[in-house]
Amino acid sequence: MQLYNTLSAEERAQLIDEAGKERLTLSFYAYTNLSDPQKFRDDLFIAWNALDALGRIYVAKEGINAQMSIPAENFEAFRETLEVYDFMKGIRLNVAVEHDNHSFLKLTIKVRNKIVADGLNDETFDVTNKGIHLKAQEFNNMLEDPNTIVVDFRNHYESEVGHFEGAITPDVENFRESLPIINEQLQDFKEDKNLLMYCTGGIRCEKASAYFKHQGFKNVFQLEGGIIEYTRQIKEEKIESKFIGKNFVFDHRLGERITDDIISKCHQCGKPCDNHTNCANDACHLLFIQCDDCKAAMENTCSTECLEITHLPVEEQLRLRKGLKVGNKVFRKGKSDALTFKNSGDLSTETLAKAETKDIRQKIKIKKVLVGKVEHYYTKSKIGQFLIENKELSVGDKVLISGPTTGEQELTITELHVNRTTVETANIGDQITFEIPFRVRLSDKMYKIL
Ligand SMILES: [Zn+2]
Ligand SMILES: [Zn+2]
Repeated sequence: MQLYNTLSAEERAQLIDEAGKERLTLSFYAYTNLSDPQKFRDDLFIAWNALDALGRIYVAKEGINAQMSIPAENFEAFRETLEVYDFMKGIRLNVAVEHDNHSFLKLTIKVRNKIVADGLNDETFDVTNKGIHLKAQEFNNMLEDPNTIVVDFRNHYESEVGHFEGAITPDVENFRESLPIINEQLQDFKEDKNLLMYCTGGIRCEKASAYFKHQGFKNVFQLEGGIIEYTRQIKEEKIESKFIGKNFVFDHRLGERITDDIISKCHQCGKPCDNHTNCANDACHLLFIQCDDCKAAMENTCSTECLEITHLPVEEQLRLRKGLKVGNKVFRKGKSDALTFKNSGDLSTETLAKAETKDIRQKIKIKKVLVGKVEHYYTKSKIGQFLIENKELSVGDKVLISGPTTGEQELTITELHVNRTTVETANIGDQITFEIPFRVRLSDKMYKIL
């Protein structure tokens, strides 16, 4: 029995495109007590592989945490594979609003010690003895109660751009650090206050609520499905949002606007801004908030030091990077002395500016038409080879190239070649080449922007 992937990501992307079927991206988690996580893992792999399910899944004694992509037509069959297990009967599957057929290109199920790295000694308490789940309206109601203490269980850089009114936002870089801090702060309120907690998708609170109940808190509540599900419910039921600002998410968007309030500042100039970015120096990659002006002036870097490094020849940059533990820096998540306006400690929900409702939605609204796909990229000469499958392409056209690794990149065509001949316009069936400053990958789509 084959229990592991055999296809590469590129081969998989091609298969998905050829199949031409719609896929759903979804996530779920469940806590339980498993006696044999390895067997559970293998059983899931066999069942899901047969359904062409893909994703990144963690399995542990304490349960399962899954982010997946499923062919839409197999959705019910997939649900049945979960219903087999008592602890997943009637489980809520969070289906992503935006469709992306390439959200996952492998089925990877890993057995881990934990499904969330929380640093807790779980032997001492029952992770399934969780707090009471609240829906969006119930959560709003409880926020109004003066007897309520609301705690944000996400990391500080996430709370910085958006959080619930009046929430305690611990200055931590990970979940592990926040639990003892909160326990200490709320020592005197265990008996009579409502402890209300929330996080991005609910999984961290689920464990935290069990932990705090074990610590002696009597009234423990959590936002069911986290901010993601809250957002869905307030939109559907037209409820007022008590979450102010942006919800930080870990995909290429780095944030989903919930209200148009901007409550954070550019870390470099202090101007109201809530756009996270990663430093363009690959040896740094620091996550921080940067406004468009600073982005232009600093060329998307976090400091003059990083700016200078990005101006060195690539070989020199590689030499400097050698032996450097970049991983540490990547996860510093915005902690750097170079950032003058980085906020730490308590955060307010004071609105510093209003966002123009453009960013994400406008991107989707760009009128474009599919013209072809990438066939090859010649790394040395920086030349891309494309196949025109629809319409035509001319010099002067603006195109968007999009793919799971490439992301979304725009450029204007300045010259076109078909069979080594320079042409003004290429037509369906033509195999074209042109110089392209960034790397593109097999099966990336090319759209003409209209
Ligand atoms: Zn700025
Ligand atoms: Zn940097």
